[in-house]
Amino acid sequence: MPVKSVTVRVPAKVNLQLSVGPRESDGYHNLVTVFQAISIFDEVTVSFTPAQSGVSISITGEQTHGVPADANNLAVKAVELIAKEYDLNIDAHIEIKKAIPVAGGMAGGSADAAAAIVAIDYLYSLGMTREEMTEVASQLGSDVPFMLSGGTAIGTGHGEQLTAALSRGTYHWVLALSTVGLSTPSVYAECDRLRSESEIAEPQTNELLMQALLAADPKAVGANLINDLQAAACSLRPALRLVLDVGQEYGALGALVSGSGPTVAFLVSDEEAGLDLAVALTASGVVGSVARAYGPVAGAKILS
Ligand code: ATP
Repeated sequence: MPVKSVTVRVPAKVNLQLSVGPRESDGYHNLVTVFQAISIFDEVTVSFTPAQSGVSISITGEQTHGVPADANNLAVKAVELIAKEYDLNIDAHIEIKKAIPVAGGMAGGSADAAAAIVAIDYLYSLGMTREEMTEVASQLGSDVPFMLSGGTAIGTGHGEQLTAALSRGTYHWVLALSTVGLSTPSVYAECDRLRSESEIAEPQTNELLMQALLAADPKAVGANLINDLQAAACSLRPALRLVLDVGQEYGALGALVSGSGPTVAFLVSDEEAGLDLAVALTASGVVGSVARAYGPVAGAKILS
């Protein structure tokens, strides 16, 4: 009897480094980024629907606002791309139980797309190799390949060309969430507006960060977090500067805007320090809500 339904759990990410090169003629930017997958998870369940033709979707969970429940959802696009590439007729329902903040710079949409690839491979017994999944993933978005692998990885090109990073230890994070997201293209456009062409170097891996990860040294990791999009995110959302200052004042080892924001990620020394900082940030009144997480964790993984 064929499998009727499968649930895949997929994490969010933070960028420990996001170095952005000059704008290319195609409008994109070459990047060097260091991704870490962290323990905030969406669950994507894909079920066969023999009585219905095509792909349908529903969104449940804590973070539903702003998530398209139609063909614009990246999970639907992932299923449709596999149907096309593997010449399949897919009649399925996707349910996304969403916990990853939406438009928060934590790659929630990319995560759901990665989960959908893993789910369809399993449901249809496609036997896709990791390379084949990555090939489909990179057509859907630059962050999607990383959400398949998880862990800690260096991304180059537009972020989709991955090499595993040598990282030891577990890192504890406090995340200051915003109720209103930031659009990734507008943050890149603001970044281009703020920087003069002459001051933009080709991005390089931050060796101090890599050494700190290898040494399992959260203090040194905290001191070497870097995000070239931070100034742009703060320019579009000035309140983020205050959030960054407050977190550092309360003892974070390092702080940065996650990806294109507006989530602000604080690295702390351990779980207890995370709890203290979460309480302090909430009491300060400058953040809407906070979440705690640790990383690295694995990428998209079948639960049942
Ligand atoms: P990134 O860090 O990769 O730039 P992000 O975390 O800032 O992304 P997402 O949560 O991925 O942003 O959402 C960006 C936009 O993508 C949303 O505003 C929404 O319109 C659209 N979207 C499409 N599919 C999804 C999905 N499955 N979950 C969330 N948003 C989705």
